Amino acid sequence: MTQILENYVGGRWQPGTGRLADLCDPATGEVVARAGTGGVDMKAALAYARDVGGPALRAMTFAQRGDLLLAASKAIFAHRDALLELGARNGGNTRKDAKFDVDGATGTLAVYAELGKRLGDTTVLPDGEGVQLGRTPRLWGQHVLLPRRGVAVHVNAFNFPAWGLAEKAACAWLAGLPVLTKPATATAMVAERIVRVLVDAKVLPAGALSLLCGSAGDLLDHLESQDVLAFTGSADTGYLLRSKERLLRRSVRVNVEADSLNSAVLAPDVEPGSEAWALFVRDVVTDMTQKAGQKCTAIRRIFVPAARLQDVQAELVERLGAVKVGPPGDEATGMGPVATASQLEDAVAGVAKLMTEADVVFGSPQARPGPGWYFGPVLLRARDAATARVVHEHEVFGPVSTLLAYDGTAAAAAALVRKGEGSLVASVYSESRDFVRDMVVEIGPWHGRLYLGSAAMAPLSPGPGTALPLTVHGGPGRAGGGEELGGLRGLSLYQQRVALEGDRALVEKLFPTPAPAAATPSAR
Ligand code: NAP
Repeated sequence: MTQILENYVGGRWQPGTGRLADLCDPATGEVVARAGTGGVDMKAALAYARDVGGPALRAMTFAQRGDLLLAASKAIFAHRDALLELGARNGGNTRKDAKFDVDGATGTLAVYAELGKRLGDTTVLPDGEGVQLGRTPRLWGQHVLLPRRGVAVHVNAFNFPAWGLAEKAACAWLAGLPVLTKPATATAMVAERIVRVLVDAKVLPAGALSLLCGSAGDLLDHLESQDVLAFTGSADTGYLLRSKERLLRRSVRVNVEADSLNSAVLAPDVEPGSEAWALFVRDVVTDMTQKAGQKCTAIRRIFVPAARLQDVQAELVERLGAVKVGPPGDEATGMGPVATASQLEDAVAGVAKLMTEADVVFGSPQARPGPGWYFGPVLLRARDAATARVVHEHEVFGPVSTLLAYDGTAAAAAALVRKGEGSLVASVYSESRDFVRDMVVEIGPWHGRLYLGSAAMAPLSPGPGTALPLTVHGGPGRAGGGEELGGLRGLSLYQQRVALEGDRALVEKLFPTPAPAAATPSAR
């Protein structure tokens, strides 16, 4: 019998009524579950989280919330194998891809657990140093960070059902906010199982976690001014959500993580056969094929000095040719199907768009015949990098990337990278400090993260496609303008910064100060 996924609201499991959406196995197209939110009282769900979960979390110290995160991480880890299987069944993930998602979730929770432990037995964080405001230090100013009194509503994309839930929840819980999480409906099985695991393990106070498996319905029409909306998904949906009248009128805090045309730039000093060269090739191939290219951080634009273009293309073509595309459960499979029928359609249409200004140098621009939603890696080469437009504007969310030649100068590479108008990450491969410095200065303001690839860091590098908990994830412009993670910075979305002005003796004694290393200011 097909499984019906339930919603977890008001502290109980509740199936949706009315028409349910089909959730499928991308390897076969077969329906594996159904889900919906019909009949869920969204206003009541939010009120329960606000009134029951909020006070319980706020009553805990950072150290206690850290314990909670660690317990959540362990509980999820105990069900790792089952979650990896679901990642294959409902997401088309190879085992490696599913690990990337699930281990990313438990790892991020564990890192934030450690941060909580370091903050210790306090509930209010100072933000920076105190300042003298009057003629004498008697009038003293100090900024502090307090948890907002609302719900953290998390609307996630289909590609990371485990990590997307956990990376957002880790920051919200540690800040002291209850979470209402809404995974993308098409791949919600993993998220639903995680919530079930956490509820059954009783690691969270009542109201700290709610789940919607299906459409958001009128959820956002009930948000209040102390609530927070953190959204990950397409730029179009992000625009729709952030421009909702209710959110604008009540100044609901909104964070958007959206499209991104991430770049990799190979500098002219990197010789074929060198370690930095090998890292560059490895990173490009990983990003094109991991999770079938459905990663917001994947390299979409590959900038190479014109003199090296043939060498790079030849090596990438050889490496991509060795990747076996097939069912996620087969051991020999290096890349599984894309997640949904509409993803497949979008990838085919996206490559056709790119082909108006680029030639395919590897792979087929057509979908593979079914069953299943298979689309092999496609490498393109722009005919004229200077005049190309689509490649800088249209994100093909699949195993697709485009080579673009530049003249070997940092200025030219930077000008091309900036045409993406804001991305999550760019990687620069070079052993030259001057080249790297020029790139950092010239493209930094268009990015949330710059990955500096070199021989020295290569053995330790997880690649630019991995969003790490201690560095920020997000980007300006097209990437949505949001920011998540980054250690304690990730909490600031959920905190209100308040300036205290008063007698120094009073201001300084109001709250115990955490150890200096733990009290890193969260700049927002
Ligand atoms: P999407 O279609 O925009 O959906 C994202 C989420 O928004 C889903 O949970 C979806 O729910 C929900 N949603 C859609 N319409 C809504 C509405 N009117 N009200 C409330 N919620 C609504 O994106 P996707 O196809 O899942 O993900 C692919 C995109 O996400 C790509 O463009 C990729 O670049 C981007 N992405 C960005 C990041 C990042 O961190 N920057 C990470 C991953 C993905 P339903 O599924 O129920 O429709």
